[in-house]
Amino acid sequence: MTLARRAFCPHIVVWEAIICTEEAFLRMDLYDQHLHSKHSFDSKADPRENVEAAIEQGLSGLTFTEHYDVNPQDWDSCVYDDAAYSETIEGLRCEFGDAIFIGKGVEICYQPRRMDHVLEFLEDHSFDLVVLSVHYFGEHAVHKRAHWVGIDTAEGTRRYFAHVIEAVRFVGQVQREGSRVFDVLGHLDLVKRYTQRFFGEHDVDACADLRDEILRGCLAADLTPEINTSTLRQGLDVTMPNLATVRRYAELGGQAMSVGSDAHVSKAIGAGLREAVSMLRDVGIHQLAVFKGREREFVRFDGGR
Ligand SMILES: [Zn+2]
Ligand SMILES: [Zn+2]
Repeated sequence: MTLARRAFCPHIVVWEAIICTEEAFLRMDLYDQHLHSKHSFDSKADPRENVEAAIEQGLSGLTFTEHYDVNPQDWDSCVYDDAAYSETIEGLRCEFGDAIFIGKGVEICYQPRRMDHVLEFLEDHSFDLVVLSVHYFGEHAVHKRAHWVGIDTAEGTRRYFAHVIEAVRFVGQVQREGSRVFDVLGHLDLVKRYTQRFFGEHDVDACADLRDEILRGCLAADLTPEINTSTLRQGLDVTMPNLATVRRYAELGGQAMSVGSDAHVSKAIGAGLREAVSMLRDVGIHQLAVFKGREREFVRFDGGR
């Protein structure tokens, strides 16, 4: 009967194919690969509640990416306790490991003058995922209003992107020397969160040339950019990066990205990830890059293999 209907009505075949794709999309394996808990200086989230929220959201996995900051300005506040963090992860894996993948990751703050120390730290500790993020431009913290004196949106955006280019070049250089040390580039246009907060505007597309250099650098260094959805909860209607940048990444040959909520509270775990996946699908990217034990897996979300 079905075959006969298909034979006589090609529209049914098309609709069945679309429904199958939508079902695959709804059932897809989703991994939140950027989130924080009380093991980061700027979060009080209970790690157990983070896992429970991820299970409730139907995620296949969540990877904690606690901050590791090495700028002297941050030393007083940014305490990283690997023993306590590892104990938490082991406990959660015992309790919830059958229900969900629980990753131990880290978010490294790029600091050009402290990267030897960072490389030593990474050599001595084991993670599922290492995210490299830029939170500074030069000695200026992008999140501190006092550091923006005399800098407007255009200048701040250019300076921030220049710093991201430098970070990506550093990763490429380390990679060429034979070490794969970083997996994901975090929130590559973070600067817009703060130009929006401080000046009520953001314009990263004005720096398309610098953005292209970042994306080309990621491809050359085998560094996977993420779509960070935290801005959707913070007064912006776009993710970091935006759709134009994701499209450009696909045009340049990018085939997979990481997605992360950057949640600092449990209720934000998984937020915006389906929107991020929709963006990827819209530009022709059909897989997520998922990291386990520093190995990258590609998880397809179009029902294909
Ligand atoms: Zn960050
Ligand atoms: Zn973060």
